[in-house]
Amino acid sequence: MHEYTVDSGAYERWLAEHQDEFVVNAERSLNPDNLVLHRASCHTINGTPSRGTTWVGSYIKIVGTRHELETEHPTARPCRTCL
Ligand SMILES: [Zn+2]
Repeated sequence: MHEYTVDSGAYERWLAEHQDEFVVNAERSLNPDNLVLHRASCHTINGTPSRGTTWVGSYIKIVGTRHELETEHPTARPCRTCL
């Protein structure tokens, strides 16, 4: 499991190599009420960021296997698009 908090490029490189793993999109504060679990292949967390030029900033990305992420962040909600 790894957190990407500042380097959007590193996150994008991880995504490219781990499309079968999972990502939790979280507020920088890790607010437990606003965590969303995605497949790494989900289009909402891939490609061009919908807001601005970076994937990390006010939101961060926590990556790993589904089991790791669900164990560490049990309040994460499944994304309605990919899960
Ligand atoms: Zn998703």
